[in-house]
Amino acid sequence: MGSIKENIDKVISIMDEAAQQAGRRPCEVVLCAVTKTRGPDEINEAIRAGVTDIGENKVQEILDKYDFVDPVRWHMIGHLQTNKVKYIIDKVDLVHSVDSVRLAEEIDRRAKQYGKVMDVLIQVNPAKEESKFGIGAEEADALINHILENCANIRVKGLMCMAPFTENPEDAASYFAETRELYEKHAKAGRQERLDFSVLSMGMSNDYAVAVREGSSLIRVGTAIFGERDYKK
Ligand SMILES: *Cc1c(COP(=O)(O)O)cnc(C)c1O
Repeated sequence: MGSIKENIDKVISIMDEAAQQAGRRPCEVVLCAVTKTRGPDEINEAIRAGVTDIGENKVQEILDKYDFVDPVRWHMIGHLQTNKVKYIIDKVDLVHSVDSVRLAEEIDRRAKQYGKVMDVLIQVNPAKEESKFGIGAEEADALINHILENCANIRVKGLMCMAPFTENPEDAASYFAETRELYEKHAKAGRQERLDFSVLSMGMSNDYAVAVREGSSLIRVGTAIFGERDYKK
């Protein structure tokens, strides 16, 4: 692997090419660098190389690093426990992993206390994998309606999904396409102040080119930028 900057440049060029091949403009897709297990030095190196958005999947890691990382947009991409919402409500710009009424209501409550409207994505699970978080299309519709009616301090910005990991990234295409259809349905329903579909978060190191081709507007890439993770550290 190259340096962090070289890796980022490579991811961006593959991302741009995939967008162009799909008849999309490269600027329609945001790279969110997934920084879990990485320290502030590496993260700041990525930011100096042009990264504007970073993703973490654990509340504790956000808290540990927050003060040492240069200004950047923070994304909570992992499963979020209700009792931890209060720690990140003031730090995170977008929560990707809302998949229950209980979590939405806690985010709403804390956002109201803090005096902000929290942007969220609904996490769907198109492959219905038991090992993954996320909900089905009908549940997602119900959750979005619940938020619109009951959670004045949440703005629903779109959907997030994770495809099953397989050797062949093309296997993910149908799951991405299915998520995109659901996304379009809501996007077409018309914008309101708190239902503002503009983010479709799909694609990781092994499948982001496929995801961009299938309509992703935000890819979450860790390993292809920073190398393999060592969870023991
Ligand atoms: C870790 C993680 C990623 C990035 O995975 P890579 O394979 O390292 O690119 C993306 N999304 C979520 C939700 C993650 O937890």
